[in-house]
Amino acid sequence: MEKMISFCGIVCSECPAFLARKDNWDLERKREIAEKWAKQFDHSGLTAEDISCEGCLSDSENVFSHCKECEIRACGKEKALKNCAYCSEYACAKLKEFFKHSPDCKKVLDEIQVQR
Ligand code: SF4
Ligand code: SF4
Repeated sequence: MEKMISFCGIVCSECPAFLARKDNWDLERKREIAEKWAKQFDHSGLTAEDISCEGCLSDSENVFSHCKECEIRACGKEKALKNCAYCSEYACAKLKEFFKHSPDCKKVLDEIQVQR
């Protein structure tokens, strides 16, 4: 399967929420991820049912809540970009802020940017 990259550089096709939906994970496995993410992202109230996503680029309603509310995603969607590496403002201030905690995402988008 070709890699699905989100606007911010997360590899959606390797994300547990994406895989849980695609591979129909059982509730216990999804619950473990919900508990882990609740702590990691200070997102209390996450349940196993929330661990389901079609990926950041999807127009469907089935996008994980945290990503659905993401301003980087909203911005990329509004500009109708494939991802932020294709933006003339790359990397803007909000993306740089995000990269401070997610250097892997910067790497992914930097690579796309030099290749395009
Ligand atoms: S948009 Fe969905 S698949 Fe992509 S990183 Fe967010 S939760 Fe994971
Ligand atoms: S301005 Fe460009 S680089 Fe920044 S979030 Fe929006 S689309 Fe991404």
